[in-house]
Amino acid sequence: MKIYLIFSLASLARVALPSVLQQPLSGELSAETDSTKTSLDRIIVSSPLLSFHRDIVRISSISDHERNVGEFVLDFLSAHNFTVEKQIVQSESESQDERFNIYAYIGENRHPDILLTSHIDTVPPFIPYSLHAPAGKGSKFHRADLLIAGRGTVDAKGSVAAIVFAALETLNEAPDASIGLLFDVGEENSGAGMKHFSDSDLNPSPASFHTIIFGEPTELSLVAGHKGTFGFKVIAEGKAAHSGYPWLGKSAISSILPVLSLLDTLEDVPPEQGGLLRSDVLGNSTLNIGVVNGGVAGNVVPAHVEASVKVRLAAGNPSNTEDIVKKAVKNFTTDSGVSVVFERGSSPQLFDTDVGGFNVITVNYGTDAASLKIHDREDRKVRRYLYGPGSIHVAHGDDEAITVGELEEAVQGYKRLISAAL
Ligand SMILES: [Zn+2]
Repeated sequence: MKIYLIFSLASLARVALPSVLQQPLSGELSAETDSTKTSLDRIIVSSPLLSFHRDIVRISSISDHERNVGEFVLDFLSAHNFTVEKQIVQSESESQDERFNIYAYIGENRHPDILLTSHIDTVPPFIPYSLHAPAGKGSKFHRADLLIAGRGTVDAKGSVAAIVFAALETLNEAPDASIGLLFDVGEENSGAGMKHFSDSDLNPSPASFHTIIFGEPTELSLVAGHKGTFGFKVIAEGKAAHSGYPWLGKSAISSILPVLSLLDTLEDVPPEQGGLLRSDVLGNSTLNIGVVNGGVAGNVVPAHVEASVKVRLAAGNPSNTEDIVKKAVKNFTTDSGVSVVFERGSSPQLFDTDVGGFNVITVNYGTDAASLKIHDREDRKVRRYLYGPGSIHVAHGDDEAITVGELEEAVQGYKRLISAAL
């Protein structure tokens, strides 16, 4: 069900935004004399960008519980002259929390040329916001090196904050810039928010936007592509018996072991010999046998075992990977007790990298991009960019953190991408 609630019919007149352009403090700080909590706080308070980032990180928004941060972002955008719509997304858990994507644009320009998007949910657990003077820099440090820690500081509230301020600054300099913002829910566990947006009238066919910029931690590089994902379970059934009399039963673990050891090498088998597909941009597909559960005791012949496997797809799609896995299993075992159950997956995603001045990388994680079906016009392909501050190496970890310098540089990076698209 699609429900839209329009929150602020902002006037067509543009308002000046002096508050968002306030210059931050600059220069070196003395860690010995100045690194008290108050002086670190002062750096944040003096910058509208850093304050907004702090405010949204302080609000816990683990997937399926995004309501409070959603309300905050909605109010902030409404107060800054955006027309904001709540796009209600069905909850997928027991949670009774209202869930919604935030869709914002200027005036009545509901179908802007450029869409900037990121997600407002985070992985668990919630880790409180904290500030840290950089370690090992002596008694003095530059404000750009101040470290901001906490869940979501990187993934993806760093991108959310930088996108909001890049949009505000762009609109202040070019009030007619045709920009829309989408901040969605559920990216970390199901892609529910982006799937909902994708199926809605905000994503018409042909596409109304010509450029979409996805915000995720890319260490300020443009991403040329990321792998797709595909999961399956291998299940073996046997018959329990006393381990002293194994011929009276059938070991499910003995049945599954040769299949798993074959699958474990499938990424090294050339595609023409039945291995997983490869690509020039993303390299090899990789396969991880992440969980194996089976058996009940050392002295019992195991009657049941199952293994959970995840493939990161460098080429092809979930459907032809399913065929590759089926063939590999079938070629290797005739054991009727072994079966494979496939899950839904996503294809690899390639992005545009034609804006100069950025480092270009590939990444191994998935994004919302796979959940957004793009309806290209025949004469015009929608351009897609993936860019954002912070490192994926700390996202999802206990040490998730970002520097002031990265956040501020990301605002400039998004502005350059917007201006290239305009
Ligand atoms: Zn993310």
